[in-house]
Amino acid sequence: MRLVLLGPPGAGKGTQSVLLAASLDVPHISTGDLFRGHVERGTALGEQVRAIMTTGGLVPTALTVAVVEERLSHGDAADGFLLDGFPRSTVQAEALDRILASRAQELSAAVLLDLPDDEVVRRIAGRRVCGRDPSHTFHQDTAPPLRAGECDYCGGALHRRTDDEPATVLRRQELYRSETAPLVDYYLRAGLLRRVDALGPVAEVGNRVQRALAASRR
Ligand code: ADP
Ligand code: AMP
Repeated sequence: MRLVLLGPPGAGKGTQSVLLAASLDVPHISTGDLFRGHVERGTALGEQVRAIMTTGGLVPTALTVAVVEERLSHGDAADGFLLDGFPRSTVQAEALDRILASRAQELSAAVLLDLPDDEVVRRIAGRRVCGRDPSHTFHQDTAPPLRAGECDYCGGALHRRTDDEPATVLRRQELYRSETAPLVDYYLRAGLLRRVDALGPVAEVGNRVQRALAASRR
């Protein structure tokens, strides 16, 4: 399956992606994780995006699309993928359509994780990520690690994302509303939107996602 996961920052996209990618046996491709990797390794791209990410802005579309196109060209994405955090604007969605069309492929579905604003704020406020692998995500109240401050999977030190500070979160939410939310209509019109209530325990939300995708097996 070729999937896109939509939803505001903190909706649980990364959390659900890890489960879904394992169950569908497709790679989880998070543009946020890809960019954070570049920042950490100090690559030229990392230097370009560091300040943008820290202040909650959007990385320029040309750079973002190039990163995604390169990643989608890896063999593990030939038969399916799960995109998390991309596309984030109509222009990016159109670019994705073009990339897929050039390979005679189509998206299977776009899953929207729907969550009230107050819960989004609570999730971001308590998010803690692993310093070794940022896809290892915890929450200080709802999904605490077994040992305080330590990743359950690899023992890495947990920290708060620099872009999870309240002022930055506000900017990211504004950008979500102005740039990304229009994608709900974009995918609705394409007949691809699957809206999922993201409130509730992780496993329960995961079951809802699976049910929402049951009609999209291609
Ligand atoms: P996103 O990738 O959409 O920004 P994350 O997957 O990082 O969101 O989740 C944000 C925070 O909410 C994390 O701390 C995560 O542990 C927590 N979280 C994710 N799903 C749930 C859930 N269903 N219930 C409670 N907390 C959750
Ligand atoms: P995320 O991990 O999805 O919350 O993304 C973290 C940050 O990476 C965002 O706030 C942006 O600065 C950048 N980013 C991730 N994906 C994109 C994208 N599709 N377009 C532009 N910037 C992005």
